[in-house]
Amino acid sequence: MSQISIPEEYIKAGKIAGEVRESIRKGSLVGMSLLEICNEVEGMFRKKGSEPAFPCCSSVNNTAAHYSAILDEEYVVKEDDIIKLDIGCHFNGYLVDTAVTISYNSEFDSLVQATEASLYAAIKAAKEGVPAGYIGKVIEEVAENWGFKTISNLSGHSIERYKVHAGISIPNVWTPANQMLKVNTVYAIEPFLTVPNGAGYVVEGKAKPIYALVTRKKTSDKRLDSFADMIWETRRTLPFSPRWYRDQYPKEELKKMLDRLVKIKVLRSYPDLIEARGGYVAQFEHTIVPTPTGAIVLTQV
Ligand code: MN
Ligand code: MN
Repeated sequence: MSQISIPEEYIKAGKIAGEVRESIRKGSLVGMSLLEICNEVEGMFRKKGSEPAFPCCSSVNNTAAHYSAILDEEYVVKEDDIIKLDIGCHFNGYLVDTAVTISYNSEFDSLVQATEASLYAAIKAAKEGVPAGYIGKVIEEVAENWGFKTISNLSGHSIERYKVHAGISIPNVWTPANQMLKVNTVYAIEPFLTVPNGAGYVVEGKAKPIYALVTRKKTSDKRLDSFADMIWETRRTLPFSPRWYRDQYPKEELKKMLDRLVKIKVLRSYPDLIEARGGYVAQFEHTIVPTPTGAIVLTQV
């Protein structure tokens, strides 16, 4: 029998992320701007002693993922929106990742329920030695039974210290050759489902809401170096939002520095991801640790 050992920080981060997710889920987001939502989530993480593992993502309607409030954010949530709130926090780099879909329009009820059901079926199937591709098969089968499509080019992932995507994919579609789930390894499982006339895959959007440091190499510009140093001090290589540095720099200057640092490959920028045919998308996500008999769900409350 393999010994289960999970660092305490994962347990604490999982509990906090689950609590924050449920507290946002309970309230109404209608009339709130995406900026207010992101600030609230990130503020709750900090108040509870953790740091965001990545910027709070609030992806609306046909935007599937990776949209966080931008510097010029103006969007206000409407009654008919379907919102994927994808959040995570960390202690000393031990991070968790969890998501919920929130909608107030009953038209989306079955899409939302099907997606949540596919996550729980996947978690039930996840244990030591199960091929990651089999998890994709389970997700795809649940989606099809409900009459929906999965988003084939978004997937769950292994998690390591300071690494949100640590190399191993947990696909959302049946994938033959694949790695087996291991004990004492942390994984995020995150099905994304869309409507039958959606394309079933995402393409990159135009927004650049999220950035991360990729190298510590110096530039020839002291101001850029000091910005990159500050990112290293506060984030290491974890993703960040430009919003978090808005107090230190005028907005236009911040934008210029980000563009320059991306151009010279000190930073990378993550675009938002949009359903290719405009299909509305739902997503649910938990962070788990497989055991020989099942899975420990770190982000369950
Ligand atoms: Mn996530
Ligand atoms: Mn994830």
